Amino acid sequence: MYIDLRSDTVTKPTEEMRKAMAYAEVGDDVYMDDPTVNKLEKLCADILGKEASLFVPSGTFANQLALFTHCQRGDEVIIGDNYHIVQHEAGAAAVIAGVQLRTVETKKGAMIPEVLESKIRKVEDIHYPRTGLICLENAHSNGNVIPLDNFKKIREIAGNIPIHLDGARLFNASTFLKVEPKEIAKYADSINICLSKGLCAPVGSLLVGNKEFIERARKKRKIMGGGMRQVGILAAAGIVALEKMRFRLEEDHENARYLAKRLSNFAFIEIVEKVEINMVFFKIDKNFSTNEFIEYLLKNNIKINPPEDGVFRFVTHYWIKREDIDYVVETMAKFFN
Ligand SMILES: *Cc1c(COP(=O)(O)O)cnc(C)c1O
Repeated sequence: MYIDLRSDTVTKPTEEMRKAMAYAEVGDDVYMDDPTVNKLEKLCADILGKEASLFVPSGTFANQLALFTHCQRGDEVIIGDNYHIVQHEAGAAAVIAGVQLRTVETKKGAMIPEVLESKIRKVEDIHYPRTGLICLENAHSNGNVIPLDNFKKIREIAGNIPIHLDGARLFNASTFLKVEPKEIAKYADSINICLSKGLCAPVGSLLVGNKEFIERARKKRKIMGGGMRQVGILAAAGIVALEKMRFRLEEDHENARYLAKRLSNFAFIEIVEKVEINMVFFKIDKNFSTNEFIEYLLKNNIKINPPEDGVFRFVTHYWIKREDIDYVVETMAKFFN
């Protein structure tokens, strides 16, 4: 088996998940007849302190469904310029919701309240789009966790404009902040959480919000082809993810800090972001071939992604143990020797 540091999306389901999936009680979820999906949706809503939630195929789906449900065509959505919805969802906001994304700079992943305030459309004018939504992200995919006083300020500035929180790694953020997930969720009207990243479920995300919003989202999910049938098979793994796996994320964070510490012992390696969740970002200041490095690791059973703008990202997760990290560091030492 490979030591796979490319992402936490590579996590395979646990033994317990596989058993739960095999014996899941199922029904037709488009009729809302699947007891396992119903249980997962209620569980997730309760954890986030909201009225309802909806099981969808992916995080991208949940985010785009949120835009599609909150906004009218031609609305403007204010969003951080490095957030997943604008960077990594293939332009979907233009295709599905038909909205205009107004990107704003961020500081360590956090939206800057004064900047946000200056971008909100305050006057009615036939030339102006309507500000339909504000999108936040926590944890940010650069590994930063956004502090809650920032969210509080943004909520105040937003007023009646709805806020969608891309919380693909919300449980990593709540683990880092040592707060209940609902303490983060309370600043948002809708939230996306991913079951298939550090939580190890094979498939699925949930869109969370109030009852009325989720009812409207259910119809839009149908439009997007996301009405699934005996999908309790997948939801069963999601229940294990929420009841069990979200409570062990600190272990991944600890392993990431351990990895960063060991990497920083190389004189030519610079850790470029403070390690807050399960991600280590670093630069290698040495003359070497990136391709040869990646191939050497692969030959030694280690998978990594190529660097982006010269920065490598290693991600820890359930299937990466401490001794795997020691082995990775030793293998790197051999390559650079
Ligand atoms: C992974 C991720 C998503 C999308 O999830 P997919 O299931 O890959 O579509 C959305 N937002 C953030 C911040 C992510 O890290």
